[in-house]
Amino acid sequence: MLGTARRPSRRFALRSFLLLLPVLLVALAACAGQPEPGRDVAQVSTYAALEKGLYDGDTTYAQLAGMGDFGLGTFDGMDGEMVALDGRFYQARVDGSVRTATRTQETPFATVTFFKPDRTLPLAGPVASYDDLKAYLAQVAPPANRPYAFRIDGVFPALKIRSVPKQSEPYPPLADVVAQQVVWDLKDVRGSLVGYWFPQHLAGINAPGYHFHFISDDRQVAGHVLDASIAGGTLAIDELDQLTVDLPHTAAFATADLSPKP
Ligand code: ZN
Repeated sequence: MLGTARRPSRRFALRSFLLLLPVLLVALAACAGQPEPGRDVAQVSTYAALEKGLYDGDTTYAQLAGMGDFGLGTFDGMDGEMVALDGRFYQARVDGSVRTATRTQETPFATVTFFKPDRTLPLAGPVASYDDLKAYLAQVAPPANRPYAFRIDGVFPALKIRSVPKQSEPYPPLADVVAQQVVWDLKDVRGSLVGYWFPQHLAGINAPGYHFHFISDDRQVAGHVLDASIAGGTLAIDELDQLTVDLPHTAAFATADLSPKP
């Protein structure tokens, strides 16, 4: 009787262990300092450093791929806009070209996540403008002092995007680079918005508010989003509660005055 009674409990123990295995693996990954999918946002350098003109890459795209498979950023010397989607990293240069980043290219600023949405919902279109999109996102994902990652796949009747030209030393501040931006107006394009919302209290690490980059389904057009209308699509929301900041090892970073403006 005892033997037959023990057998089911052993089976139960094994089943419990197998059910718990994913949890144990995630816990193990967290202990090993690995980014946790759907929770960790990895930040290369800081927005404060970028604003001051620290554009020398210190992290390779091979390294960045170990921090996330989704996100945005730029390249060594501010050589265009970066958008990462489904584990591929794209470079949208100021000449309008889009190419896949090589593993040895470097980034001076990037925000990436192993994207694992908490929620996916149909995006109730039409959304008339970027301001309307921000208002809609604030409604479905109310700001709560934790960052969000957003992915929107859809049809965009009108889209205004930009890229910036590669800079040479001595690097000008970010505002001067943005003044050199090249802007494209796109019509009826299908693609994805990849972006983040960061809370005000993380200012300095990242730019507070919404920040989106776009890439077309055919991967021929990409850039930083200035305005967008959306006919309809799908919105995926990933609320993040872990932040890893990878600070540069460059001499320029070590000696820069990164204190907030008075
Ligand atoms: Zn951008």
